[in-house]
Amino acid sequence: VPVLLWFRRDLRLADQPALAAALKAGTVLPVYVLDDETAKHRAMGGASRWWLHHSLASLDAALREKGSRLILRRGRSEEALARLADETGADTVHCIRHYEPWWRNAERAVSKRLTLCCHDGNYLLPPGAVTSGAGSPYKIFTPFWRSLRDCLPPAPPRPTPSRIAAPAHWPASDRLEDWALLPTAPDWAAGFCAEWTPGEAGAHKRLRRFRDHAARYDDTRNLPSIEGSSRLSPHLHFGEVSPAQVWHAVADAGGQVEAYLRELGWRDFAQNLICQYPDYAARNGRPAFDAMEWRSGQDAKDDLRAWQQGRTGYPIVDAGMRQLWATGWMHNRVRMIAASFLIKHLLIDWREGERWFWDTLVDADYGSNAVNWQWVSGSGVDSSQWSRVMAPLSQSEKFDAAGYIRAWVPELAKLSDAAIHDPEEAGCRPRDYPAKRINHREARERALAAGRAVR
Ligand code: FAD
Repeated sequence: VPVLLWFRRDLRLADQPALAAALKAGTVLPVYVLDDETAKHRAMGGASRWWLHHSLASLDAALREKGSRLILRRGRSEEALARLADETGADTVHCIRHYEPWWRNAERAVSKRLTLCCHDGNYLLPPGAVTSGAGSPYKIFTPFWRSLRDCLPPAPPRPTPSRIAAPAHWPASDRLEDWALLPTAPDWAAGFCAEWTPGEAGAHKRLRRFRDHAARYDDTRNLPSIEGSSRLSPHLHFGEVSPAQVWHAVADAGGQVEAYLRELGWRDFAQNLICQYPDYAARNGRPAFDAMEWRSGQDAKDDLRAWQQGRTGYPIVDAGMRQLWATGWMHNRVRMIAASFLIKHLLIDWREGERWFWDTLVDADYGSNAVNWQWVSGSGVDSSQWSRVMAPLSQSEKFDAAGYIRAWVPELAKLSDAAIHDPEEAGCRPRDYPAKRINHREARERALAAGRAVR
């Protein structure tokens, strides 16, 4: 009888420990279940669904090259898998373990009906593998990273198997097209294809491209006008490449890559936090923050909309929000500036921003998104930085964002380097570019006053 290989956010064939274990057991039946029903499930956002569609198509093609294929089913994971097991006589499921609260629920439910074998492989080390001296999980990144780093490098990645033994009969599969994961009119994802190639081959292409300039990462990663970072985040999120593969490829490239490896550590850290706080996307890490008087009402709604559309009157913020809309991705430095602007300048609850990113990012990740939003707002267990109000205009100058603004805010493309960061102040704001929603000094004072009330 075949064993089921349950794919989720691990859509690859190389360095895939669940596949390796399933192969040892005999014939393999690869399956992906579109599960929007498991308890605490958070439905994937629009940009993620676009990615998923293409990634599943690419995985199926890769499986077919190995003599296999991908079976698609929809519904609650445990029901879909149990039905497939009934149809094929299988009773064992291999998968990579995931830590989102709904995946933990799904794993529990599946293990009540079938023999479930969970493998580690989507993180440098599984959450909980390193703990503080007292044996408790870490809440702060730096000591977490120190402990984790001592246990690394990760084991060398496993190669892709040459053949995948197929069952004698293939059970029925849904048609990917019927899942309607892609946008219909208007096709807001038209620009995504120019930027991304979802799937394992696309991930490796991106990794090879990054290897050539990985040694310059620390000097260039904060400059949004150039491609200084790896842009591997959606590939890592969907598990098209493993962090161990990325680690070894980058470390082997040589040079100063420690800063990059540390960022992979942040990804692990986020999982470590959501294991401790499964509701981290909904609840303040520091309960004192529950008293924060966020703005609400029509003015705040208009401000939120202007932020989402990239029409705040702050060029660096607007460039970032438009890059996000057009490509499903935003540069990390600009994510921090745009998030801080929403939370502190507009005094809008960080959860509004978290939800928008969840819907629009191709790398939307439950742990990384929530942890970063709470870190910027200062509401997280790992930070208390409310009083650090980022100044978008000086950030824009400091990180030399003129080229980036020109690329994403065409109304400002003709302005000089000196004027482009703050056209209003320079007296040359074009008529089709909005005025600032709020003046920086006024916003800063309002934010500081709101923060004092919370403390
Ligand atoms: P690189 O700089 O090349 O870093 C390599 C990899 O390390 C990334 O691909 C990513 O997997 C990981 N990484 C880097 N920085 C972080 C970080 N701060 N936290 C966790 N992992 C990190 N990242 C997501 O993957 N998903 C999200 O939903 C997400 N939401 C964010 C929300 C906000 C408000 C902020 C400030 C950051 C968020 N990040 C998120 C983190 C970071 O911005 C992205 O991981 C990074 O921009 C991806 O680009 P890259 O692959 O070129 O990163």
